[in-house]
Amino acid sequence: MMEMYDIEKLRNLPIESVAQRLGLRVKRHKSLCPFHEDSHPSLSFKVSKNTCRCFVCMTQSIGTIDLVMRHLHMDFKKACRWLADEHNIILDEWKPAPTDEVQKPFDATRYERFFERPWLNEEARWFLFNERRLDERVVRWCRLTSWRDRQGVPWLQIPYYNREGRLVGTQNRNLIKGALPRFRFPQGSQCSIYNLPVLNLLKPGEELFITEGASDCWAMLSAGHKAIAIPSATLLTQKDIEQLSIINSQLSITFHMYPDRDEPGERLFMQLQQVLPNLVHHQLPPDCKDFSDLYLKKTPL
Ligand SMILES: [Zn+2]
Repeated sequence: MMEMYDIEKLRNLPIESVAQRLGLRVKRHKSLCPFHEDSHPSLSFKVSKNTCRCFVCMTQSIGTIDLVMRHLHMDFKKACRWLADEHNIILDEWKPAPTDEVQKPFDATRYERFFERPWLNEEARWFLFNERRLDERVVRWCRLTSWRDRQGVPWLQIPYYNREGRLVGTQNRNLIKGALPRFRFPQGSQCSIYNLPVLNLLKPGEELFITEGASDCWAMLSAGHKAIAIPSATLLTQKDIEQLSIINSQLSITFHMYPDRDEPGERLFMQLQQVLPNLVHHQLPPDCKDFSDLYLKKTPL
């Protein structure tokens, strides 16, 4: 079941950036309409209402979800999942079972052994080294491993450690391209800030990059920077904010960030800047939507 507030979240994603992710070129709140043969931009965006409308082929305005449904020929649910996935939003239906009642804590002993001797299957190797072009040392440092479920689906398994190096959660990433859900978390997993053990390696005055999501973090590490990751722009919790503020007060380091080139990315930057006043903003070039993009452009196979 799709939760109401999840749907609200998807409806509130900035419509122009959704359109851009769909491949439309938005300029001054207008783009060519993909739904009819269009030579003058006739699809116009109304930012205040977060809708768009083509005055040639539409009788009314549509929102983010409708735009995706139409453009990608998806039903409602699929369009929601696509939107969530594109914007790093983890829908409630993909999260571990509700935690308030008889919540079992994360069973670290059950998972630890997978990361002691990481093993990468063919799909994982292809994803990490060909598609993402990551440095092997980074993959080893992050202890990434892989497995196959009963249906034969290959998964990448990503461990989350706290600063003391204790396993606190794992995130599974589906290695089949386009398969949804992309992520799964075992019960009780606490996957908030990623790569915390790197803090123990920082020397005074060093730079620490903050990325959005683990895969941008791998790219940043492979580019030779030290980095941690926030799970996603829309998932920053009070607990994460407190943890960042503690890190800031304990270590004399500088914080850096390449915000994603969209509104959630910039919003995350501003949110973080309130906790980390010295956070330095780095601008991605116009043709890169996130740091992984930039990394790939600079790192030929
Ligand atoms: Zn049209």
